[in-house]
Amino acid sequence: EDDVDSEEGNMDAPPLAGANVMNVVVVAAECAPWSKTGGLGDVAGALPKALARRGHRVMVVAPRYGNYAEAQDIGVRKRYKVNGQDLEVIYFHAYIDGVDFVFIDNNLFHHHQHNIYGGVRLEVLKRMVLFCRAAVEVPWHVPCGGVCYGDGNLAFIANDWHTALLPVYLKAYYRDNGLMKFARSVLVIHNIAHQGRGPVEDFFHIDLPDYYMDLFKLHDPIGGDHFNIFAAGLKTADRVVTVSHGYAWELKTSEGGWGLHEIINHNHWKFQGIVNGIDTKEWNPEFDVHLKSDGYTNYSLETLQAGKPQCKAALQRELGLPVRADVPILAFIGRLDQQKGVDLIAEAIPWIVGQDVQLVMLGTGRPDLEDMLRRFESQYCDKVRGWVGFSVKTAHQITAGADILLMPSRFEPCGLNQLYAMMYGTIPVAHAVGGLRDTVIQFDPYKESGYGWTFDRAEAHKLIDALGNCLNTYWNYKESWRGLQTRGMMQDLSWDNAAQHYEEVLVAAKYQW
Ligand code: ADP
Repeated sequence: EDDVDSEEGNMDAPPLAGANVMNVVVVAAECAPWSKTGGLGDVAGALPKALARRGHRVMVVAPRYGNYAEAQDIGVRKRYKVNGQDLEVIYFHAYIDGVDFVFIDNNLFHHHQHNIYGGVRLEVLKRMVLFCRAAVEVPWHVPCGGVCYGDGNLAFIANDWHTALLPVYLKAYYRDNGLMKFARSVLVIHNIAHQGRGPVEDFFHIDLPDYYMDLFKLHDPIGGDHFNIFAAGLKTADRVVTVSHGYAWELKTSEGGWGLHEIINHNHWKFQGIVNGIDTKEWNPEFDVHLKSDGYTNYSLETLQAGKPQCKAALQRELGLPVRADVPILAFIGRLDQQKGVDLIAEAIPWIVGQDVQLVMLGTGRPDLEDMLRRFESQYCDKVRGWVGFSVKTAHQITAGADILLMPSRFEPCGLNQLYAMMYGTIPVAHAVGGLRDTVIQFDPYKESGYGWTFDRAEAHKLIDALGNCLNTYWNYKESWRGLQTRGMMQDLSWDNAAQHYEEVLVAAKYQW
């Protein structure tokens, strides 16, 4: 009887993907909630679930950095040669929310739970080589629900330089030898700034036939020839996705392509921009688990007018700032480095503290910038808080309690915090670059349209201009402010939308020959 029930259930919900149902293997060096340093971890945790909801059979493959309670050793062991060394991996498996999660275990990955990309260059390279080598064969060896995926109708989605070797291995070891003939690879660029560069000799550490060397060789007018993994991945992958349209465009320019723009232009027919979605279960003020304690509260569009002020008061109390409903809280959340433009906020600080505002900054990263946060806090203790640390809970609570989110990133492939902010009725003020340009549409007071404020150059006075206009609206045009919040919160930023576009890319890759 159970069988009959489940069959009927399936008939009620035919797969959205219809005739295009595929086996999809997402391969990433980090996957939330098990491992995460930034947006990539979030994407690897959420996109697969959305693809599965469309009817595909979907798996995520990530390294096993720690002991993950959910994932079982399923007794599959394989050996791979890495740089002359025979290394054994153990495959662990979990099935969660309709997705197979496969974790690859080897000593090399242990101790990197909180330091995923740490270590000297060749060590990091070795980890990624082993990971990619072991990942390609997961569909062959790892039974999921009793049955291996196999290599028919198979698409790999690799992410950033760490797994850019996967499309190359797929070709060199398998397709060149008549194996995995119907498997396709898509490479997603989350951040081109890191490319897996090294001296040309690094090629001899990645176990490929010599005639593959040219694929990796890149000429740099300053540094001469070097070895570049991203370059090889971009050339070899069947399709390339960038995490926003703005970023796809910038990558083709000499400033935005970080040395790879020529390769990118040459392969532009493969490119497609797809803005990341967000995990609407985790980042939803109505259900957010981090708002259930400490005086915070869940809220929705209907209860925004009571709920958000309560969160704001809770945040002010927690930070030891004056509890005042009328003072806008500005927030910054993110990695402390050159990319995120924290130094622009620093430059604007004298102006900011001259306003009747409060500022909270949460982040970790460059030690000098961490010190700067602490210094601001002690210097402007009645207005500014600099929270050095990585705390998901605090990030949620700040997003709920703040009025305005500052994102002065110099470059931003997609950016997630501005999307989270909009879901929580928090208005973004952002540098119009990459994904920020795609997603933060400038407020137009005449049409009452848009979601926030943008500025067109990464300069402090531009940030001040935009922030000044934003504050003016906050203080003097309450109706417009509510309109901004409402439009922001009503957007569909879910992964379902993005997953449909990924599916189109996978289908295009499948039918290209
Ligand atoms: P990137 O991937 O460049 O770091 P994104 O905006 O795409 O930037 O994603 C950053 C993610 O990391 C977001 O989910 C953000 O909330 C989270 N994050 C960054 N810094 C911190 C921190 N100090 N504490 C908690 N979460 C953080």
